[in-house]
Amino acid sequence: MDDSLNFDTLAVRSGTLRSDFGEHSEALFLTSSFVFASAAEAAERFKNSEDYYTYSRFTNPTVTMFQERLAALEGGEACMATASGMSAIMSVVMSALQAGDHLVSSQSLFGSTLGMFSQIFTRFGITTTFVDPTDLDAWKNAVRPETKMFFLETPSNPLTEIADIEAISKIAKSANALFVVDNCFCSPALQQPLKLGADVVMHSATKFLDGQGRVLGGALVGSKQFIMEKVFPFVRSAGPTLSAFNAWILLKGMETLSLRVERQSANALEIARWLDQHPAVKRVFYPGLESHPQYEIAKRQQKAGGAIVSFEMKGDTPEQMRANAWRVIDGTKICSITGNLGDTRTTITHPATTTHGRLSEEARAAAGITEGLIRLAVGLEDPSDIRGDLAKGL
Ligand SMILES: *Cc1c(COP(=O)(O)O)cnc(C)c1O
Repeated sequence: MDDSLNFDTLAVRSGTLRSDFGEHSEALFLTSSFVFASAAEAAERFKNSEDYYTYSRFTNPTVTMFQERLAALEGGEACMATASGMSAIMSVVMSALQAGDHLVSSQSLFGSTLGMFSQIFTRFGITTTFVDPTDLDAWKNAVRPETKMFFLETPSNPLTEIADIEAISKIAKSANALFVVDNCFCSPALQQPLKLGADVVMHSATKFLDGQGRVLGGALVGSKQFIMEKVFPFVRSAGPTLSAFNAWILLKGMETLSLRVERQSANALEIARWLDQHPAVKRVFYPGLESHPQYEIAKRQQKAGGAIVSFEMKGDTPEQMRANAWRVIDGTKICSITGNLGDTRTTITHPATTTHGRLSEEARAAAGITEGLIRLAVGLEDPSDIRGDLAKGL
């Protein structure tokens, strides 16, 4: 599809492969394998398994459509879909690194990503240095001769710290390291890291790409060379493949991506401003507020602040802070108490005892995740109803 078309056009028009039936909507190809006219054709297609449909662990037309659409939205040459966001992280590391290699990563990471870097990959001889994502000198100083990858999540979870993608990409380039950005929180509707110098964008499609809390999925977007020569052989053999059914759900989710994310950002900004004035609230973390420490960078690299608002409740002791936070959470009747985010429904989470509960107390303190912290992932409800829902416990 013509790459010069605008985002909203690409969201509904790119990645459409029509079969001979001429179906208008994307077809769902629930088939594990594909048949051949002859032994010779089978031999030919297996030899070039990236160009033909042979077996759905390698390629499937519905998954291809998802890959093409996401690549178009991120402005990348190619995309490889995976079963989940975590299998995308596994795939990028297993495809690009080997024993002895070193990674520099933001310390503000999704919990399972942190676990992969600090506990799983270390068993295979791949070590990670964690840095403050907003400190450019820290990225520079962490580079070693064996550094092969930079990994960043921005905005971070749950404190919405913003790192400067363009500035970090320059450091990665001079270190000859592959720069991977987890673009889950913004989605391409708000931020396109490849245009800011990243080499690879990683997604948990489970979040805003589906946007309706239905399926798990993941993806890597980058150059054709990296995706086809490095990632495809790994995914084809190891099999962390996206199912055709989930790809089909995600294709429909992506059609409404910018509508949802822009409205969710507007709702989040309204709620963040209201919380910022509330006497029971100590501090609000939202990149769309001028008081946010990286407000200027956010304004430059994101179209809007995103759907995630975190805020800290007042309290003299950690116990009091936790009690205040739990009272707000338990007082809600509309918000869903769940760890997921990126849904049309607003979700509310107490990170210290759930998503970040397995970290040590020291690690949590270093990450700034206090007992008073609440994370909201704002949905598509009327924001005045969400304010009323939170007000009960505040
Ligand atoms: C959810 C999430 C992941 C992991 O994705 P799954 O689809 O749950 O495997 C990775 N990074 C971020 C920022 C996430 O929010």
